[in-house]
Amino acid sequence: MNRAAILAVGSELLTPSRVDTNSLFITEQLNLLGVEVAFKTIVGDDRDELATVLRHALGRVDVVICCGGLGPTDDDVTREVVAGVMRRALLEDESITARIRKRFESRGMQMPEINRRQAMVPVGALVLDNTNGTAPGLWIEDGARAVALLPGPPRELKPMMERLVQGPLKARTGHQVLGRRVIRITGRSESHTEEAVRSLYAEWTAMATPISATILASLGQIELHLSARAGSHETVAAVLGEATRDVSGVLGLDVYSTDGRPLEAVLGDLLVARALRVAVAESCTGGLVTSRLTDVPGSSQYVDRAVVAYANDAKVSLLGVPQALIDQHGAVSEPVAVAMATGIRTRAKVDIGVGVTGIAGPGGGSPEKPVGTVAIAAATAAATRSRLFRFVGEREMVKFQASQAALDMVRRMLLQ
Ligand code: ATP
Repeated sequence: MNRAAILAVGSELLTPSRVDTNSLFITEQLNLLGVEVAFKTIVGDDRDELATVLRHALGRVDVVICCGGLGPTDDDVTREVVAGVMRRALLEDESITARIRKRFESRGMQMPEINRRQAMVPVGALVLDNTNGTAPGLWIEDGARAVALLPGPPRELKPMMERLVQGPLKARTGHQVLGRRVIRITGRSESHTEEAVRSLYAEWTAMATPISATILASLGQIELHLSARAGSHETVAAVLGEATRDVSGVLGLDVYSTDGRPLEAVLGDLLVARALRVAVAESCTGGLVTSRLTDVPGSSQYVDRAVVAYANDAKVSLLGVPQALIDQHGAVSEPVAVAMATGIRTRAKVDIGVGVTGIAGPGGGSPEKPVGTVAIAAATAAATRSRLFRFVGEREMVKFQASQAALDMVRRMLLQ
């Protein structure tokens, strides 16, 4: 058994107000056993739709995990539909009724009769106790295929899914482990990354434990997702570790994280390791660089202070940027970013100063400095660095990319 489908059942999941998060947890748990999710579907509380997607899923994968729709009301249809599709009669399990009745009584209430629906069990199904609610889960085997029914509320579903992974699911898998690694890259486009690592793909697919790779581009960074399946955690870790080193060998400093840490945490660890402190002067990012730095627990060890100097006057009076420099180069320029970085550094008496000044848009651009132009600088006692970036996208996107570039500039400065 190595392919699964997830069916998230619930009409509320088809509205803009609710998100299916259960499938992420279920996927994580299935991957622990080397089971890959072939597809997932969200379906409303509709008998025909659910029966159709369930039949389709059963025709394509070894195991189907359904979540939601096990409640006592008429719109909770999962149990009946699954029993119907799998041609199993539903019989009341008196011990479940007794347990639900007791649960109500312990809260000084009488069990409503409709809750007896939750005690209906398809013939031959294994009952999974619900320690956090009334609806038990169900595990139904049918030859080589199996279907799990789990309640929708995450705190009820999670312990049941974990029990399935340790018990009946594990018994049906080939004791395989699926491992993943996310390599985070910045300072390179998706196609440049792909070009650089493409030659590794052929090597990886030809290995005894093959590795599959996917490139995902998001704002200000590229992610390379590697996955491998093997008989043990050790083998998977070794194979993915080797591939990660291959990627770092090719991309060098553009790889900033291979263990899931975001850029601000990677930088934070570098600053702690070198016992350095930082202060930030921000204009167009409005404090975002500092906000990200301080998202990391323990950042008080290395963040000293920040100034949001939006107006030119503020750059002059709070950071000591010479007015003449602004007049000569404009507020969005490398010399001004450098003056902001050195200004905050000397005022805060810290090791590193950072300056960010730019045009986030939508207004304020000019032909030679269009929206998205951002000057970033980093300064230490020994050196300064600066660069004029041209980011694309809307205001928020420009701000995020500028914060990413500023954090990355400091990271590279420390590593080079
Ligand atoms: P109950 O016995 O509580 O009614 P149920 O199995 O019928 O259990 P649902 O009524 O389908 O579950 O969902 C109950 C709640 O669980 C939803 O309102 C939602 O908050 C949460 N939930 C359901 N499905 C999901 C999902 N796929 N991801 C995250 N949360 C979910």
